[in-house]
Amino acid sequence: MDGMTHPIEPDTEAPHAIVIGAGFGGLAAAVRLGAKGYRVTVFDKLDAAGGRAYTFRQDGFTFDAGPTILTAPHLFNELWALCGRRLEDDITLKAINPFYRIRFDDGSVFEAHADEDKTRAEIAKFAPEDVAGFDRFLKASEAIFDAAYTQLAEEPFHQVSTLLKAAPDMVRLGGVRCVYAKVSDYFSNEKLRIAFSFHPLFIGGDPFEATSYYCLISHLERIWGVHYAIGGTGELVRGLVSLIEGQGNTLCLNTEVDEILTQDGCATGVRLANGDVVDCDLVVSNAEIGWTYSKLLRNTKRRVWTDRKVEKADYSMSLFVWYFGTRRQYEDCYHHTIVLGPRYRGLLKDIFRNKILAEDFSLYLHRPTANDPSLAPPGCDSFYVLAPVPHLDSGTDWEAMAGPFRERVAERLEATVLPGLRQEIVSERLMTPLDFRDRLLSTKGAAFGLEPKLLQSAWFRPHNISADVKGLYLAGASTHPGAGVPSVLSSAKVVDKLVPEASLWRASQRA
Ligand SMILES: Cc1cc2nc3c(=O)[nH]c(=O)nc-3n(C[C@H](O)[C@H](O)[C@H](O)COP(=O)(O)OP(=O)(O)OC[C@H]3O[C@@H](n4cnc5c(N)ncnc54)[C@H](O)[C@@H]3O)c2cc1C
Repeated sequence: MDGMTHPIEPDTEAPHAIVIGAGFGGLAAAVRLGAKGYRVTVFDKLDAAGGRAYTFRQDGFTFDAGPTILTAPHLFNELWALCGRRLEDDITLKAINPFYRIRFDDGSVFEAHADEDKTRAEIAKFAPEDVAGFDRFLKASEAIFDAAYTQLAEEPFHQVSTLLKAAPDMVRLGGVRCVYAKVSDYFSNEKLRIAFSFHPLFIGGDPFEATSYYCLISHLERIWGVHYAIGGTGELVRGLVSLIEGQGNTLCLNTEVDEILTQDGCATGVRLANGDVVDCDLVVSNAEIGWTYSKLLRNTKRRVWTDRKVEKADYSMSLFVWYFGTRRQYEDCYHHTIVLGPRYRGLLKDIFRNKILAEDFSLYLHRPTANDPSLAPPGCDSFYVLAPVPHLDSGTDWEAMAGPFRERVAERLEATVLPGLRQEIVSERLMTPLDFRDRLLSTKGAAFGLEPKLLQSAWFRPHNISADVKGLYLAGASTHPGAGVPSVLSSAKVVDKLVPEASLWRASQRA
């Protein structure tokens, strides 16, 4: 033995699965199908894998484009284990504690800790009378977690019977109410209501619309922690690619799929943008749902996800993201900081309902160099800051607005957590809703696919097995269970449960 891992020779007789998109959902689906014995080809239009978790490198800085807060790391362990490998041999995950720091507009700061006593002390700073509410909230969050996450998030949800089975719990646990309303049952202080209700924004949801089931995130953070991958989230992407290649399967970059081909209602292959046709037995689309149905299946008759339904669906907010490197370090700046603006409910209404780019904004600031100096040249810091903004139905001219908006964000950061910022910047780049539409092919430039509201969740969310096309499966943010890294990894797990072993595929299709 030479101690090196060698790719397995692909079984050329095995059924062929095509995965469209190398986001976390697509990569995880590819690993799982490879482990089931399929020959897998992943196509992505970009020049590197990751999708929203793409890595930008410039001027000696490494910028993770998207996900930075990693919860539920066991979902990665499972993928490595399917390939007979150990995650910890390839990736170092570091638990981050406190999880994040929230700075309110008046300068007061709340820290969310893994340690409950420390969190109680933080709560007492704002409203001692709410400490008891926190204890009750933790119990409620755990109860929701048990009902919603453990029983539903990793299970197929395409049958009405699943919905009927889940409905009594939904009513009992108050899932028809929104996150903010539920949190208000436990906290009287407005700042604490914000601190415990903003989580749906991490996955493109409005705390005033998203089902209170998302309160489970508080419990999930507590039991599994908040992690960071040393080297950046991109290390996890590269790790997954190495798993796929180790299975003898293929990732084709710079390769856009133009159409999913069907015959008699069954997926038969894809046509690439260069005109080549690639046959397959089944397709997993990790592309955004509106794009999958209205663009990639434009010539296929659809009963459920018609163009009208795609157009009428509600899409998540978009994001303005500014990546920048500084020639100095801001030691006082924490790894994850939320810099809130003056408004909460009103701002969310402008973003989600009025679709107005407001004058004010709230920010999430990422400083990975707080825990990982490898992402910047010595003595420097790597950052990104993002602001939730309405998707492209706002009509905002982002070509014109990007520069002025960046200035406003810079001013705000200088006035709050990064003094003198503008004169320290040595490298930068921007991402606006136009990039989500044109680079990542997302309907209306939404950053998280379909909005996670009650009537677009669970059974109401696009299913992981298509009702329109036989042999088409869906993994990724717009499908069940939703956006965010844990959810898209879970969507791949659901696909895994729906697709038979490769040796049974042909028989299953004749049945
Ligand atoms: C700025 C930002 C910060 C975030 N932070 C967090 C966080 O801290 N924690 C967290 O858990 N989640 C976070 N999220 C959400 C999370 O990143 C996403 O929900 C998740 O990564 C989406 O994965 P996906 O599987 O849906 O695929 P995507 O990442 O959406 O990738 C889809 C891929 O499909 C490709 N594709 C699309 N159409 C085609 C086609 N026709 N042909 C070929 N390729 C195609 C695209 O190029 C893309 O690579 C964040 C998102 C953003 C944008």
